[in-house]
Amino acid sequence: MSVIIKNKEQIEKIREGGKILAKVLNMVAKKVKPGVSTYELDKYAYDLIKKEGGTPAFLNYKPEGAETPFPGTICASVNNEIVHGIPSKTRILKEGDIISIDVGLRYKGYFTDHAKTVAVGKISKKDEDLLEATKKALEIGIWAARGGATVGDIGHAIESFVYKKYGIVRELAGHGVGVKIHEDPYVPNYGKAGKGEKLVLGMVIAIEPMLNIGGDAITLAPDNWTIKTADGSKSAHFEHTILITEGDAEILTV
Ligand code: MG
Repeated sequence: MSVIIKNKEQIEKIREGGKILAKVLNMVAKKVKPGVSTYELDKYAYDLIKKEGGTPAFLNYKPEGAETPFPGTICASVNNEIVHGIPSKTRILKEGDIISIDVGLRYKGYFTDHAKTVAVGKISKKDEDLLEATKKALEIGIWAARGGATVGDIGHAIESFVYKKYGIVRELAGHGVGVKIHEDPYVPNYGKAGKGEKLVLGMVIAIEPMLNIGGDAITLAPDNWTIKTADGSKSAHFEHTILITEGDAEILTV
């Protein structure tokens, strides 16, 4: 595999998709409250995407190595679940939970990817700080993703910011996106400055830090999809699809 540099027409379609995806995720996030099931959020996201003329990119997606296709429009990962939580009618959100919602969209043939962690009602100060730090880690990663920098610069910036205050998930990473939902390059949330693939105009990547209140280690749930923290601590996830330019990256999922 190699990095797919997008041309003007492709970028324009990805940009359109990114705007729609941002709107969809914002609307789904507003539905989050105690008593709502993760299935209801999923159904709502599906309907919104269809109404916009898009296709849910995660629904029935079967990455290499997966035993079954993913059954939802959104990944709904609650509390100690990091990513890839399967929406369910029996998973009812309660006051004090946090939920990470990750959505992929295919629009006019092109893919965008976007996630955020949302509070369910009133949450603890500790959890608020986790959400704030993870959001900030994403902003810092985007800031580092300047034209001429490298993939290692992104991971290095995130890791330096987090500096042992939180666990960083290392087995999962950001990625190129656009023509496919997952493309090269692989964009880890740790790394060495100046190392790795060079970031050049026309690259589209998703940056997605996942931070844990406890350690870095993860575990796979028996459903073979949901990834959880090994120590049971809470985890947050924020993700944007961005376009590399000659200067500051352009955030496409806004
Ligand atoms: Mg992603």
